Amino acid sequence: MESQDLPDNVVNVIIGTGHLMVLRAFQWLTLSSVDPDVAAKQFDELRSQVPLLYALLSVNAMALGYTHMGVAPAWMSVWVPGALAAVSGIRAVTWLRYDPLDFDRAAVLRILRRTILLGCLLSVAYIVWALGLTRFGGPDERAHVAMFVGITVIGCIFCLSHLPQGAILVAASTTVPYFFYYLVLSPSPVYIAIALNILLVSLVALRVLLNGFSAFAKLVRSQTEMDRLNREVTVLAHTDMLTGLPNRRLFFSEVEARLAGRTAASPPLAFGVIDLDRFKAANDTFGHIIGDRILTEVGQRLTAEFSRTESVARVGGDEFAFLIEADGETAMRRLDELCRRLSEPYCRDDVSVSIGASCGVALADIPNEMTDSLYERADYALYQSKSARRGQPTLYSAAHEAAVRSDRAIEAALQGADLDSELCVHLQPVIDARTHRVSAVEALARWSSPTLGAISPAVFIPVAERAGLVHRLTVKLFEKTLEGAARLPETVSICFNLSAHDLTSPGTILSLVSRLRQSGIAPARIVFELTETAMLRDFAAARESLGLLNAMGAQVAIDDFGTGHASLSYLRELPIGRVKIDRSFVSGDNALARRDLLGAIIAMCRSLDLPCIAEGVETEEQREFLRSAGCDALQGYLIARPMPPAAFFDWMADLTTAPEKVPVPAALAEASAGR
Ligand code: C2E
Ligand code: CA
Ligand code: CA
Repeated sequence: MESQDLPDNVVNVIIGTGHLMVLRAFQWLTLSSVDPDVAAKQFDELRSQVPLLYALLSVNAMALGYTHMGVAPAWMSVWVPGALAAVSGIRAVTWLRYDPLDFDRAAVLRILRRTILLGCLLSVAYIVWALGLTRFGGPDERAHVAMFVGITVIGCIFCLSHLPQGAILVAASTTVPYFFYYLVLSPSPVYIAIALNILLVSLVALRVLLNGFSAFAKLVRSQTEMDRLNREVTVLAHTDMLTGLPNRRLFFSEVEARLAGRTAASPPLAFGVIDLDRFKAANDTFGHIIGDRILTEVGQRLTAEFSRTESVARVGGDEFAFLIEADGETAMRRLDELCRRLSEPYCRDDVSVSIGASCGVALADIPNEMTDSLYERADYALYQSKSARRGQPTLYSAAHEAAVRSDRAIEAALQGADLDSELCVHLQPVIDARTHRVSAVEALARWSSPTLGAISPAVFIPVAERAGLVHRLTVKLFEKTLEGAARLPETVSICFNLSAHDLTSPGTILSLVSRLRQSGIAPARIVFELTETAMLRDFAAARESLGLLNAMGAQVAIDDFGTGHASLSYLRELPIGRVKIDRSFVSGDNALARRDLLGAIIAMCRSLDLPCIAEGVETEEQREFLRSAGCDALQGYLIARPMPPAAFFDWMADLTTAPEKVPVPAALAEASAGR
């Protein structure tokens, strides 16, 4: 059927389809539509095959030239094959020297295209030369040319099995001219048959090659997809979803890798742990959604502070860690800035939340540093920041190292201690500021280790907290306090110190409740003293534990008030019945300068109707100021030092017979001599 007979739109479709096919074929031949991953794999495979191809071409060309020596002119039998073999040799060497690491995707594509083009040009040169040779020599020589063309084409197709475009163009530019040469220019039935054979075998080989290649491309694509999915899963498994930072697992494996490669000459690494201050309180007050947003923003601020080559990660709820190349001085300078950045307010949806960040840093400056010990040291430094320098970084120092050693000795002694015989409580009176009567006693722990001697509770309680031993101590001390307090008049309250860790241990709280019940002492006489920081450490747990103690009738006092960061109104969400003002406001080095503050704290307590007790009263003058400022109760060396229960009861007996003894500074020196 003539095309004119067809409707126009059908013609257009046919022409359009034709164009499209030609365009697709052109794109395919010029590698415009190739998948870059497949191209990279092709390049990999071709690196071992293309040199073989060129070697085959050179050897075959030399052999053909050799059989035509003396038959054909020298330039045809020596110089042309020599030149062709040389060019092929250069190409072979070029391919041998390719290193895939040197090339990006675009460069790989360029190399593949160049190989197709040069392959075609060389094939044309070879076939023109081979056909030129058929004009010389007899049937043997002509048969050699036919063999050369046939074998070389099949060889090329094999070697280019991973570059089908090259294989097709090379085969077409040799077999087709060979066939037409015998068909048109030098007709010979035998050679037409041979040329036809070569053409057909090439077509079949190409078909097989295309099948193999499409299977290869499919495999590469599925492998790439698999790699991509694997990578995605790995990234997800190593990323903290909330902040987008690496998670604990990835971070510690990175740290391990960095430490493993270190030598004595390596620059020092600074390992740091950052812990947010007051985050838990913010989370409890503003809710988890705001809490999550704060953490996300902390993540963003951290990402901005550290460069891409530095590791920073979220390693716990509100704990972050980093590893940077820096000496102690540089690390501290950067961390000062970091703590400042992290303490800037977090504003979201009209809510502005202020939290802070404390940070501990340890240096890895020796070879074979262990991740665990580095983390332990940074964590120790963080603990120092948290307890003494909130909102600031602390660098683990030689002094810390010495303290750690002594803490370890204390911990070992505590582990093996016979608590019954080594532990006791001393009692210190608290007097009513107006009546001067003993209104309460505070029980203070004393430990006398057979190996280390007497150790202050300010030292061994924190060690016991870190070693997880404090619960046992608290219960034992409470038993001893109740024992000692049994002889006290019913009007006197008994103050007992709890550690932050006791608050988060329901087991300890229940033990205290049961010991108190067994003792027969009225729960209303017991005052549990807790620092602000202890209450803030886990506000929800504090609320629960204190609620329980309060429910049975016991009271709760804030100890060391003024040293933490909590606002009193916030703390009043807890069942707090008294405030003990820290002794640094009363008799500390800067106490005089802080007199105004002391007056303000007392006034605030009065306005909130909270009885306040001043501790550390050492002089008559301090007592007078406190009394006139309106403080309710006083405790301190001026009245009496902490004493063993027997000495305390003697002191109490003296007091009833000679009440003017309170508070007489001269008398207290003797009374406390037994301490
Ligand atoms: P704290 O609860 O603030 O106890 C008051 C501390 O001040 C006691 O030190 C006491 O001896 C001392 N002190 C009393 N009056 C004066 C004074 O006028 N001037 C001066 N400079 N100091 C005075 P201590 O007994 O060494 O206890 C230290 C800390 O150890 C206590 O501070 C408390 O936090 C902790 N602690 C003591 N006993 C226990 C306990 O049984 N359990 C727990 N968890 N902690 C305890
Ligand atoms: Ca106390
Ligand atoms: Ca105190």
